[in-house]
Amino acid sequence: MLKSESESPVFLKVKCIDCENEQVLYSHSSMEVECQVCGKTLAEPTGGKAMIKAKILGVVR
Ligand SMILES: [Zn+2]
Repeated sequence: MLKSESESPVFLKVKCIDCENEQVLYSHSSMEVECQVCGKTLAEPTGGKAMIKAKILGVVR
């Protein structure tokens, strides 16, 4: 069964909830991704799709 398109590895444009910095991260990052401005964790690795802890603005194509 196919899952939604968002399950595919993509680059996501996200906005930090704390400082509103926008940056791009990999949806299936195997490393923790931090905000480049304030250091807040934006994504945590889960072994598959990373848990995104920021506002997702869209997919970078
Ligand atoms: Zn931030």
